[in-house]
Amino acid sequence: MKKRRTGLSTRSLWAGEREYLAFGATQVPVVHSVSFGYNDMDEWYDVATGKKEGHIYGRNTNPTVRAFEEKIRILEDAEASTSFSTGMAAISNTLATFLRPGSRVVSIKDTYGGTNKIFTSFLPDQDVEVTLCDTGDHEQMIREIKKGCDLVYMETPTNPTVKITNVRRIATEAKKAGVRTVVDNTFATPINQNPLSLGADLVIHSATKYLGGHADALGGAVCGSREDVEKIYHYREINGATMDPMAAYLLLRGMKTLKLRIDRQNDNAQAVAEYLKTVPEVEAVFYPGLTEHEGHQTAREQMRGFGGMLSFSVTGGVPAVQKLLPNLEFANRAANLGAVETVVGPTRTTSHVECTPEERAAMGIPESLIRYSAGIEDAEDLIEDLKQAFAAMKQ
Ligand SMILES: *Cc1c(COP(=O)(O)O)cnc(C)c1O
Repeated sequence: MKKRRTGLSTRSLWAGEREYLAFGATQVPVVHSVSFGYNDMDEWYDVATGKKEGHIYGRNTNPTVRAFEEKIRILEDAEASTSFSTGMAAISNTLATFLRPGSRVVSIKDTYGGTNKIFTSFLPDQDVEVTLCDTGDHEQMIREIKKGCDLVYMETPTNPTVKITNVRRIATEAKKAGVRTVVDNTFATPINQNPLSLGADLVIHSATKYLGGHADALGGAVCGSREDVEKIYHYREINGATMDPMAAYLLLRGMKTLKLRIDRQNDNAQAVAEYLKTVPEVEAVFYPGLTEHEGHQTAREQMRGFGGMLSFSVTGGVPAVQKLLPNLEFANRAANLGAVETVVGPTRTTSHVECTPEERAAMGIPESLIRYSAGIEDAEDLIEDLKQAFAAMKQ
């Protein structure tokens, strides 16, 4: 009999852990040991040469970290996965594994700030050509892919105006051209979207955000085919951007509630976005769950939920933002996102702090844009909190 596929909640809880439980522990132990000893020289040799499963040295592998890798691998339904100290390490190590001087990358303008820096500065310095298309302009992306490239890099939904790229459409074109596709799935999480099932080759996460969910551990992950992941792992194993075992434990613990949290954050973001539309001081609301959002139809097709991230701009520019945000009681004013608590921040201070006002304007980012990462509070409290903050802003 074919085994029934378990649901995402059950998988969030149980996936990847059983093999790493020792001493009858019901939770994965945190193994801080840097090295793993062998009395049998033949066994040591077999583990060191990859003939036998096991651990040698903490920069390469660690049992707690391995359990984290297994959980994200199963949630993304991938053949293999590996982990990193941060999301940026996952991104930079993946790019470095596959790109050489003379390579060409096709991506979008709205990638995460750190990724954008790599595309606009670090890679060009190493003679890698990077073409950044207008986010959401699929025709332009396809034209650029057809001109010839070595890697296609997507992120959907994006920061800060939550634009949507049709992963299947772009991955299909890339496949025809024989090009590898990478998707940063941090905003969606495997609960809302599985890029590999849409035809992507590799999926990347900043585990720091929704996977951990509690803003208390840094980490990154890459999932894909065994062949690709082994190459990326080898690069990371040598270069040393390894996940810490304690971080792996905290991320594993956070991931147990991933499905519960994401469902709640999807609902809260939708409720807040709909409320913001009724506020006279709000100029624009960006959320893929709103029917008028330009990516709404694609999001419906490729996502199971619209996510916990939204953004909005207010009348009165930066002074209005400076008056509004300090009034919020149930929101951290900080640079991170994806935590259980609501997090807010002006885009000009957070994700796009390195851009000039003119550059932000060219990217369609108003100076008064506020990024809102919905937490798991009661939706009514988040809306009441915004109501009183807008009232205080007007005084
Ligand atoms: C935060 C973030 C990253 C970088 O992750 P770190 O863990 O901070 O290095 C990459 N991509 C997206 C979409 C992010 O939000």
